Amino acid sequence: MTPDGNQPRIHILDPATVNQIAAGEVVERPASVVKELTENAIDAGATTIRIDLKMDREGITAISVTDDGCGMSPEDALLAFTPHATSKISGIGDLHRIGTLGFRGEALASIAAVAEVTLTTRPKGSGAVPGTRIVVKGGEILSNSGSGAPEGTRITVEDLFYNTPARKKFQKSKNTELAQIHTILEGICLSHPEIAFRLFANDAELLVTDRTDNLPDTIARLYGSEVVRDLVPVTCTLDYMTIGGYISRPSLSRKDTARVLVSINQRFVTSRSIANAIKAGYGTLLPKDRFPVSFLTLRIDTALVDINVHPTKKIVRISREQEITDAIRDAVKTALLSHDLVPSAGTPDRIPELIEEQSIPAIRPEPRYDHAGTAPAGVSESTHTGTTMTDRQLRQTELPCGVALVEPVLPALEVIGQFGGIYILATTPAGELMIIDQHAAHERILYEQVTSRSESARRSQELLIPAILHRTPRETAILKTLLPQLAGEGFTIEEFGHDTFLVRAIPVVMGKPEDTTMLDEIISDLTNPDSARSVDNRERIARVIACRGAIKAGTVCTPEQCQRILNQLRLTRNPYTCPHGRPTIIRFTRPDLDAMFHRT
Ligand code: ADP
Ligand code: MG
Repeated sequence: MTPDGNQPRIHILDPATVNQIAAGEVVERPASVVKELTENAIDAGATTIRIDLKMDREGITAISVTDDGCGMSPEDALLAFTPHATSKISGIGDLHRIGTLGFRGEALASIAAVAEVTLTTRPKGSGAVPGTRIVVKGGEILSNSGSGAPEGTRITVEDLFYNTPARKKFQKSKNTELAQIHTILEGICLSHPEIAFRLFANDAELLVTDRTDNLPDTIARLYGSEVVRDLVPVTCTLDYMTIGGYISRPSLSRKDTARVLVSINQRFVTSRSIANAIKAGYGTLLPKDRFPVSFLTLRIDTALVDINVHPTKKIVRISREQEITDAIRDAVKTALLSHDLVPSAGTPDRIPELIEEQSIPAIRPEPRYDHAGTAPAGVSESTHTGTTMTDRQLRQTELPCGVALVEPVLPALEVIGQFGGIYILATTPAGELMIIDQHAAHERILYEQVTSRSESARRSQELLIPAILHRTPRETAILKTLLPQLAGEGFTIEEFGHDTFLVRAIPVVMGKPEDTTMLDEIISDLTNPDSARSVDNRERIARVIACRGAIKAGTVCTPEQCQRILNQLRLTRNPYTCPHGRPTIIRFTRPDLDAMFHRT
């Protein structure tokens, strides 16, 4: 009903309004304009594409994309702005074999409906034929003239959302928009290494790739050559799909999927199921709440991929998805099994961009860099009681003699000494120098024992005096839900009235608690709401036992004790990282060291 009480009449919207509404789907923000224009340039067969942004204090004022692609004739140039005008498909049948990024014929019409667009173009190989310059604003052609122009196309978009104030207001800060554009272009560059891309903002170069047939060159351009050193290639050929690209060693991981980049038929896509399949391929090599870094290139029979499910085509629908994700998981697994996964020296900290968001979960204690009581290097005298304590701790994690569960993946390691009470130095038969984080290594050993549910890891010890612990109501709620599982892992904890608990026993592997502070810390770890969110209860308990039971950084170890840690580490399924995803071991090869000393 209208306000005056009359029945509203149905009428057909005018084309300008229709286009503005349609534009809302395709052109959400400046980054969508960059994406659509760049994809058009790729479809036009460009080998070099340049994106220029102009910005003032408030935001992005102009976006321009220049390519050396096929260009357009004067007639086509005019048609390009008409809704549903496309040169890429001619009928519904073509939808099953789309080889181009665009096909809906919507982008230019949509962008021109909400901005001022200037198109300058000249067809390739057109000799003396002049180019065309067309200006369209709010869907109206403001001018159309012949113009001198290089072969190829340049499209400049200004005054974006000038006639849709709601959309304009919705734009995020300039930096957020810029970051979005950068992310989208990274995906496009990685799916098209054969094209050279350059992104400028107010003439400052923000991103550049060269034409190459080698994806690692592109990865190196975007993220640095150190990243490439720690990637492992993936390959697999099936009759309906080929899998290529690169994945990170387990030592390089993130808490989100932001660097799990996947292209299908050279289209950068977002797919939860594929990201999960890649992660599944790592099995226990990655903690449950961490994701690898990966650049996977899939070529799938176009009949199996429906890209027409989302206006921006970022999400695609795949037939036989289960089969495809299984194949991806297996290819990742095979790649990891057939490669040496010890990270090289210096890698992680030279890629700040990749590890900026790596957070070590809160249940990890601050390592105690207690230099005072430790010798600088080599083996130091430790106190007699200290040595016995460490011996006891290590004995708890020793496997019964001769029971090797797995073929060791690490080479034999021979101890050189301990450094700073934190690191173990060792050599391999190949003459490499290995540095091992003793706490992280022991944590990994314990963690695998707990998760494999070995008897020794679950053995329980009664406390001489039960400890009484008070918790906040929130912690109480979390702890109550954990009690049955804690009991299964060797804890005896009872409720003892209002928000109070009685700890009677803890797993033997956690050592002798010196005072209630340690128990308090264990319970805090278990009830930390931050860690509760990301992993399930069993995982959380396993990590806490591993972390609290492992020998601490700052513990002086004898050479024999160091050797025992290394021997045990070799027997784990994943000796490369601790349960939180931090590296346990780093390698320096002779060439690495020679290069550092300029001994070439
Ligand atoms: P679509 O890409 O879905 O076909 P667009 O609205 O993005 O629709 O583009 C419409 C048409 O304009 C394209 O089909 C293509 O023929 C032409 N076109 C757009 N951009 C370019 C370009 N950079 N170079 C050559 N032709 C282009
Ligand atoms: Mg297009």
